[in-house]
Amino acid sequence: MFEHSTGQKASNKLLKLLLKTALISSVLIIVVVGYAVSLLYSQHVIEDAEYDAISVGEAIVSFEKHQLISVDDQNIEHLRIPPDGFKKLDVTMQKALAPFDIIKIKVFTEDATIIYSTDHSIIGKSDPDNPSLQIALAGGVSSNRKTTEEVTDLLGEKKFDVDVVETYIPIVNSLGNIVGSFEVYQDVSSSNYKSQEGIVKSLTTLTIVLVIVFSLSLIIIRVAVKELNLAQHELHKMATEDALTGLKNRGAIVESVKREVSRNQGLSTIDEGNPVSLIMVDVDHFKSINDSYGHPVGDSALQELARIMEVTIRDNDTIGRYGGEEFLLVFPDTDQEEAKLLAERVRHDIENIDFFYAGKKITLTASLGVTTIGACDTDYEQALKRADEALYRAKYEGRNRVSIG
Ligand code: GH3
Ligand code: MG
Ligand code: MG
Repeated sequence: MFEHSTGQKASNKLLKLLLKTALISSVLIIVVVGYAVSLLYSQHVIEDAEYDAISVGEAIVSFEKHQLISVDDQNIEHLRIPPDGFKKLDVTMQKALAPFDIIKIKVFTEDATIIYSTDHSIIGKSDPDNPSLQIALAGGVSSNRKTTEEVTDLLGEKKFDVDVVETYIPIVNSLGNIVGSFEVYQDVSSSNYKSQEGIVKSLTTLTIVLVIVFSLSLIIIRVAVKELNLAQHELHKMATEDALTGLKNRGAIVESVKREVSRNQGLSTIDEGNPVSLIMVDVDHFKSINDSYGHPVGDSALQELARIMEVTIRDNDTIGRYGGEEFLLVFPDTDQEEAKLLAERVRHDIENIDFFYAGKKITLTASLGVTTIGACDTDYEQALKRADEALYRAKYEGRNRVSIG
């Protein structure tokens, strides 16, 4: 019982540990996957916006080339907008850009000056230290995602805290020379909302999968632990139980004696009121029962003797099969007088067993040796020897009796 509950405690601890590990790893997996998925979505939003911006930039250059690029005396193409060109460009831009969620566009010259913007208030301003603009003026495309506190859209309306992707694209003349750069502001709030929805869906699916996987694993482990506990219990039973009678075997009953003795030692030596008593029981002339009725009948007699003694003893008392037809009874908190009375009761109950074979009553008697271990008595082997000697005396004095050692 003791070992069994220890095993159960250990498996409960293991299950709790597994549950904690599963919870912590689930949270970690969800956080890491959530972060990775949001990075992917964000990258996707930037790439989409960049693709749109490049398409729009190319379309503007091809359709509005005459509004943007003019040829000088040496037949070189420059980025230049005629004074009456802003209005025409505004109309074109509003038509061309609105379907793409583009809210603002700037046109920079090679020296980083804004020569046109859908937001007229910034025309003429310069931004030479802008690294993204420098990339575009060097022939590359650069995109950044940011939240702008305030932006004026194509219709001249102010928008606040807009999630935008700004893309810088080089403007190339017909000879392939870079003559300026577009800066395209695309409102990605709606894509952002869609990506948040996507992230939530992915994480919900992942959470459900993790809950299912971990629940199944825990169920399997629980079943396995239960089986292990049962096997352990079975093994413990096999190691400590007597197969014929179901009582404790010799090793286990001696362990009980040892435990009682050490428990007794823990008590005060002045307190003599907690002695342990032992009773050794040996069936009288058992050999003749085997000889007369056969070994199987002898076995049944031993089983019946065990059953009767188990009924006779009290809840805290322990009984075990000490040898072939010998039993050992351990009585905690029992002094010599009490032990003697108990031994008499056991002897009496054995004598009155109704054990029949082939309709004939077989009388069973036993001799009992009693000894009591006091608080100062530390040697359990000495006590067993005393009980055995008392038993021998009972035999010698005529059997079917109790003797005190
Ligand atoms: P005493 O009164 O002196 O104790 O006589 P006894 O015949 O009981 O003692 P002895 O030691 O001579 O014989 C014990 C017998 O118990 C011998 C053995 O065959 C028998 N025995 C021991 N274990 C078992 C068992 O598991 N089953 C059966 N049927 N008999 C057993
Ligand atoms: Mg014997
Ligand atoms: Mg005997």
